[in-house]
Amino acid sequence: MIEIKNISKTFQQRTGGTFTAIDNVSLTIQKGEFVSLLGPSGCGKSTLLNLVAGLEHAQQGTITVNGKDCSTPGPDRVVVFQEHALFPWLTVLDNVAFGLKQKGLGKKEREELAMEQIKSVHLSRFADRYPHELSGGMKQRAAIARALAMDPEILLMDEPFAALDEQTRLILHKELEEIWMRTKKTILFITHNIREAVILSDRVLVMSTRPGTIKKEFVVQAERP
Ligand code: ADP
Ligand code: ADP
Repeated sequence: MIEIKNISKTFQQRTGGTFTAIDNVSLTIQKGEFVSLLGPSGCGKSTLLNLVAGLEHAQQGTITVNGKDCSTPGPDRVVVFQEHALFPWLTVLDNVAFGLKQKGLGKKEREELAMEQIKSVHLSRFADRYPHELSGGMKQRAAIARALAMDPEILLMDEPFAALDEQTRLILHKELEEIWMRTKKTILFITHNIREAVILSDRVLVMSTRPGTIKKEFVVQAERP
């Protein structure tokens, strides 16, 4: 369970003033829940996700996962970015296996776990390819496999499909839904696409630009088995 309590985040502006990106936001996300954070560009979605990831620091408030503080990054929370952020000099297999070094696993074990996740995103045939040899959709699949290989409790997804064409996006929606049902991960998914938010999630949180708060929340009637 993710617990966000009275979080505020202000940025120092070049002009000298401060800008409040998140203003006293509180929310709870249950284990296994798929929550979308929807809102216009600049309303603070990435900032909130980065705070949960431990990549930003709030001036006020606390964020915990199962009671554990989230102010620094941890293997329990992995981010999938809009830009896949794969290492260009590593193959798909090595990209996916890379993070597993943190877990102190040997090479063979890392590669086995990586291949399992690569298979789950239908990229087995491309395991020895480099990122530049892959299409946009395939790069995002590889990024998802890399995140899943860490076996995080929480998947933080920052507009992962925004740069893809409509057809590829629809395929990836289906695949992500399958992954979510199979792995039962908690997912916090950022999008500015209302259709995507409604299709994918259990609950949609709508953020407002001023003053960086959640202004609405609705539960999606899921048609899940
Ligand atoms: P969204 O993801 O909803 O598009 P962001 O969380 O990226 O929004 O940004 C929210 C606001 O905070 C924006 O106005 C942005 O300019 C500002 N902001 C984000 N990161 C920084 C930063 N490092 N320094 C200054 N301002 C920032
Ligand atoms: P995109 O993101 O380009 O819209 P997809 O990721 O859905 O497309 O890939 C479309 C198909 O094209 C895939 O099934 C894949 O087999 C094929 N493909 C894409 N790039 C390559 C490549 N570099 N080598 C071989 N096949 C590729």
